[in-house]
Parts: sequence; C-alpha cells; structure tokens
Amino acid sequence: MTTAALYEVYKQYPNVQTDTRKIKEGELFFALKGPNFNGNSFAQQAIDAGAAKVIIDEADYEIPGKTILVEDVLTTLQQLAAYHREQFRFPVIAVTGSNGKTTTKELIHAVLSTAYKTYTTAGNLNNHIGVPLTLLKIRSDAQMAVIEMGANHLLEIEGYCKIARPTHGLITNAGKAHLEGFGSLEGVKKGKGELFDFLRERGDGAAFVMWDYDYLRTMSAGISTIIRYGTADADIVGTARGGTGFLEVAMERPIAVAIPTQLVGDYNLPNVLAAIAIGLHFNIPMEQIKAALENYAPSNSRSQLLEKGTNKIILDAYNANPSSMRLAIENLVGMAGDKKMLLLGAMAEMGPETAAEHASIIQLIRSYDWDNVVLVGKPFEPYAGEFHYFDDSAKAAAWIKDHQPENTLLLIKGSRSTQMERILEALDA
Ligand code: ATP
Ligand code: MG
Repeated sequence: MTTAALYEVYKQYPNVQTDTRKIKEGELFFALKGPNFNGNSFAQQAIDAGAAKVIIDEADYEIPGKTILVEDVLTTLQQLAAYHREQFRFPVIAVTGSNGKTTTKELIHAVLSTAYKTYTTAGNLNNHIGVPLTLLKIRSDAQMAVIEMGANHLLEIEGYCKIARPTHGLITNAGKAHLEGFGSLEGVKKGKGELFDFLRERGDGAAFVMWDYDYLRTMSAGISTIIRYGTADADIVGTARGGTGFLEVAMERPIAVAIPTQLVGDYNLPNVLAAIAIGLHFNIPMEQIKAALENYAPSNSRSQLLEKGTNKIILDAYNANPSSMRLAIENLVGMAGDKKMLLLGAMAEMGPETAAEHASIIQLIRSYDWDNVVLVGKPFEPYAGEFHYFDDSAKAAAWIKDHQPENTLLLIKGSRSTQMERILEALDA
C-alpha cells in the first residue's frame, strides 16, 4: 500500500495506537516489534479490542479485511507521520538538547497555548516512535506544534527532522549526556546540531539560541533567522533572582518585568527564557507570557520542591547526567539554609566515561561542606570514601529511616534506574 493510500485510511481512523493494552474502539493499530515482543502476534487481540485496522509486517498474521500488510511497520509509521506533516501550513518548533527538553517544551506549550491551538509531545515521547506518534495526533485545528526530540546517537535528530520538518528549532544545551552513544562531548554537539543543520539547509528556518553558550552561537551560524536569548548581549535578556527555593526571572529586555515561577533551580533560567523568546516571536504580549509562566507547575519528579517534616527537599529523581548533576549540586550550594544534605544516585549510560565522571562529581562534592552525603549505585563505590554508600536506593532508604535529617535542605537526584524517589518515602512526614 502506498503512503498516500494509507493516509486515506488514517483520515478515516486518525487515532493511532501502538499498545494493545490501551486499544480503544476505532483506533488504527500499528503492530510494532520490540526486543521482547512481536506486535504482529497481537493483531487478533487488537481487533477484538476494537481496533479498526491493524498494520502488520508478517503475512502469517493476516486477517482478511482487517490487517494491512506492509514491508516494515515502524518505517510505515514514520512515513505516514511525514506525509501528514506535509499537510501542515503552521510553525513546527523542534526542541532538542541534553537537558531540559521536556521542561522547555512544556513551558513553550504553556505560553503558546494562551494564543494558539498548540499541539505538543505528550510527556517524554521523544524517540523514533514518539516523534511520529506526536505528529499523527495533530488535527486540522492546529496553529502551532512543539515537538520534543531526544537522541543518544548521531544521525538520530537528522532522521526526526526529515519526518517533522521543523520550521523553528531550539537546542537547550549540549552537555555530557548519553556519552555511550555519542562517544564524546563533540559528538553530542554534532548530534544535537543536526537540528540547526536542518534549519540552515531549509533556507527559511529560524533558531532560538541561548546566546550565553558560545558553542550554540557557532552551531547556529548561517541559519536565516536567529533569535537570541540569554543573560546579556541578546535580544531577550533576563537573569535569575533569588537562590531561595523558586526561580524568579528578572527580565531586562525587551521589557523590564519580574516573573516568579514554580520551578526549582536556577538552571531552569534558560528554559524559561526560551519560552519567553518564542512567545514574543509569535507576538504574544509579555503580560500574557508572564501569566502563563507563573501558572506553570512542573510535574513527575523534575525539580520539585517539597516539604516533609522539618525538611525541604528538592526532588530531581527523574534523570541525571554529569551536567545536570553538577548544576543541581551548585544550585543547592547557592540556596539559603545552614544544613544541607545530598542523596545522589549514579549516572547511567556513561560508557567508558563512567569512572571519570563519577570521580569528578565526588571532587565537586568535596569542595563544599555538607551536613551529610549519601551515594547510591556501584559507579560511586570506588570514590565514596568518607560518605555513606549503598549499592541500591532501597538500602539507602532503610538507612535514612533510622537517621532522619532535621531542618535540612535535601537534594535527591539520580538516573531513573537508581529510583532515588524511594528515599523520599523513608523520610518522616
Ligand atoms: P530526557 O532526556 O529524559 O527527555 P529532558 O532533556 O527532557 O530529559 P527534563 O525532563 O526537562 O529534561 O529535565 C530533566 C532534568 O534535567 C531536570 O530535573 C534538571 O535536573 C535538569 N535540567 C533541566 N533543565 C536544565 C538545563 N537548562 N540545564 C541543565 N540541566 C537542566
Ligand atoms: Mg524529556
């Protein structure tokens, strides 16, 4: 079946599904393959659950009148998304980078939604399946789309750009994340830079660039429209004020205005500035942008500020890599409070850099005074020294149960796999 023909089927059944457990009446089911499952084998189950049609790539599973046999289901999903994208006549803004993509995407969405019907990535669906699924959710009432693109190896973002064809783009930063796949920091820059390369090559692309970062300036050179934001020397200028809990942005240019947020951590400043730059670019008044940002509440363990008993806790257990770990620790140092405690889980996906990066975090920790430091996960073990060390967070949680901090400011951070949020439950209310 040609993509154009499949597009007619999609128009009839525009609700695309890839998870049999979630199938609803009339959905178009794509039978993807995973490392541990073959979606084809769920074709009948999908039909029984109400799927209108099932896209399969193994003839053995054909059900007359119900299945559509293609060469490869994943490729077909991506081609269909690309075909749908070609019908769009509105801005498509891509967001990539090492840290802060989801936060930035959500802030942009919050701002743009005040003036435009805006579609965006649900949660963190930013990969080879999530990007096409996000596009296929976009309906004809759309005026804006904001697409998060994640990557852990070269040519991945290039591939997503070919599908989503962004008109506008933003790279939050390029730091030490996913070193396993990118090989080096240079590799990370090249990989994220594929978004800027796409915008440059399309001729009429526009990039929002964090002007404080020299590498982003360099990478964005040659793109036809560049909107600069930063803490100085840019079109949109703002700085972080406070150091006591929530980030407040002091805007200087184009208008002086203070914007309090519900975000914890000064490292969120560039994320907020990016959303302001995009809002202004699309002619949303600053007052309206300010209101949207003030009302935005972060969710799911990304830099939440919580209180439990006499303690204040920054819960940032959603993920961790050397750049975000460093910033989170330094942010805690900058916050007011006498007693401070670190509860850090190991950083995953670091490949051959694992040892050096964990050693370097320990070195950073040692350069400040702490009330207590708890380290979790094997990569920290060789360097734990005088600090409390546990090989998993359940053991750390058990220890915390008997060693309750009081009147302390705590940072709980680690890679998803270390499940550092378990420690939160061990703290007395
Ligand atoms: P993922 O790769 O999982 O999609 P992401 O890039 O979408 O991550 P977020 O989920 O927005 O990132 O944020 C994850 C964590 O990254 C935050 O909790 C915070 O610790 C850190 N972080 C957020 N923004 C920045 C930033 N601008 N610079 C550095 N670290 C940041
Ligand atoms: Mg994300």
